[in-house]
Amino acid sequence: MSRAAPRPRIAVLPELVKNQIAAGEVIERPASVVKELVENALDAGATRIQVDLEEGGVKLIRVTDDGCGMEAGDLPLAFAAHATSKLASVDDLDHIATLGFRGEALASIASVARVRAFSRRHEALLGAQLEIEGGRASDVREAGGAAGTSIEVRDLFFNTPARRRFLKTTATELGRALDVIQRLALAQIGVGFVATHDGRRLFDVEPSMDLRARVRRTFGAELADALVPVSGADGDTRLEGFVAPVRFARGDTTRQMWFLNGRPLRDKILARVLRDAHRGFVVDGKQPTAFLSLAMDPAKVDVNVHPAKAEVRFRDERRMFGFLVAALRPAVQSTDMATPGERLLSFAQRRDEAAHTLAPQPAPRQHGFADSGALARGERPMYVRESFAPATSSADAPARLDEPARRSDEPLRGPFLQVARTYIVRALPDGFEVLDQHALHERLTFEQLREEFERGAIEVQHRLTPELVEVGAAQARLVEAHFEALAKVGVVLGRFGEGVIAVHGLPARLRRPDAESLVRDVIATIEASGAAPDSGVLMEEVLHRAACRSSVMAGDELSEIEIRALLSRAADSPHDQTCPHARPTRVRFTLADLEKAFHRR
Ligand code: ADP
Ligand code: MG
Repeated sequence: MSRAAPRPRIAVLPELVKNQIAAGEVIERPASVVKELVENALDAGATRIQVDLEEGGVKLIRVTDDGCGMEAGDLPLAFAAHATSKLASVDDLDHIATLGFRGEALASIASVARVRAFSRRHEALLGAQLEIEGGRASDVREAGGAAGTSIEVRDLFFNTPARRRFLKTTATELGRALDVIQRLALAQIGVGFVATHDGRRLFDVEPSMDLRARVRRTFGAELADALVPVSGADGDTRLEGFVAPVRFARGDTTRQMWFLNGRPLRDKILARVLRDAHRGFVVDGKQPTAFLSLAMDPAKVDVNVHPAKAEVRFRDERRMFGFLVAALRPAVQSTDMATPGERLLSFAQRRDEAAHTLAPQPAPRQHGFADSGALARGERPMYVRESFAPATSSADAPARLDEPARRSDEPLRGPFLQVARTYIVRALPDGFEVLDQHALHERLTFEQLREEFERGAIEVQHRLTPELVEVGAAQARLVEAHFEALAKVGVVLGRFGEGVIAVHGLPARLRRPDAESLVRDVIATIEASGAAPDSGVLMEEVLHRAACRSSVMAGDELSEIEIRALLSRAADSPHDQTCPHARPTRVRFTLADLEKAFHRR
């Protein structure tokens, strides 16, 4: 018995269905409508944009702008699929300077909502108005109104109940819509925004407000005031914006805002850039906060990767990556990195741990500082010291643990005490701070190495007799290929028979250089880097670890003089507040923190 063969008929979909399918890609929720309408307003050159929402945008989204407006005759065209004024040929796709270009948004929106559009060009006395419901447009009528465009979108998904069911609560939808508006407001300096919900004003920025002022409006003064500016250029590619101190880092990337030619982006590579630029400053799993704006030739980036255009493809990704990390790094290093004690206190209170209160400890010593003449004690092993780069004189060498302070202010006033041979507690004018002596010393040693490296003058201590490290033939060859790059970071190695590396010299900064571990770190770094690591990578990876091992260990009893030297060196270092592995080096408790802890307020 044969089954009746199905007889599928192929039919071209009706326009409405086509547009609804397209809407499935770009119009997911009220926030997507807001994004498309506000982007259109921006493309029209608006300087003021108002977004009115009702019931989280499900009942009403109205976007009103003072942009160029549309001719009466163009109004119905704007709602036709693939109708755009922003793209004439496929070649134009290579250098898109507008936010929109696909000509889909208005047609999609009009297929899933009730839409009313009004528009008036500035030179026209009267504007034009049009309604569309379920894809069917009314005739265009003359209407009065302000120059610019106003698009009203009511009852989103009224004719696609399946989609409507996917919507979340009013608060959630409103939150997402507001997020879109705020991101665009941060991206588009020079444009004023107002957002209202059920008649109440939620957010506004004036056209004249700069990025910092906009961050203040959006996220508050504490963040805005702590931001450190970033600025860099590579040819005609420019990076401007701000990075925030690590205490503003979060579990997600929602406070990482990248803007490319005024377009908010979410892109994995940019998240990686930030992670790299914060290497050593942010613990794993935490995402730094930053607001960064890239301006570049539209031909050097492809924004047509995704319908929502949130991702991009840079033509020269490697170069871009390097440029961005290098431009960000100095700003990251100059952010304030102390961990506020307040966080620890509230954490301790939450866990109700009485043990966390800092009970007075018997102080091993607690008195003022001796005079700086007593700082001469240095611990130096029996090495011959010489500068790797002959040009350096000792006069401009950075301060060492055994050198007196150069800056006369805060660090030199006591009292301080060492707790458990690990922490140093010292008074500040408005509270106190606790320093981890090991983490602090590690950071300082590393920063000095970095500074020497950047000046091209890592000081080397040559050994009278080389220390030999057996590594095996293959790994010895691997290391040999990098002798030169290693010498630039003060690691002077040589060959010594089959499979043996001779360590002739190591950076003088390292207090207890462990040649064997260092050579093993070198091998691990070379193996991990895939290609040949340049001396910058060796510097970051190998010297980080070496600095860690050679620094004052927890449990070392420090003399008062050594503590004082450590503190004064810390005061000279612009970024002493986390150790190279991003543990905090110091925790600061202000009077306000203490008052809170003791329920005085
Ligand atoms: P696209 O933005 O990709 O061109 P849209 O469907 O969003 O596609 O818009 C279609 C066209 O309608 C635009 O190209 C533009 O010419 C016109 N348009 C839409 N919104 C506005 C506006 N607010 N002001 C002026 N023109 C607009
Ligand atoms: Mg558009």
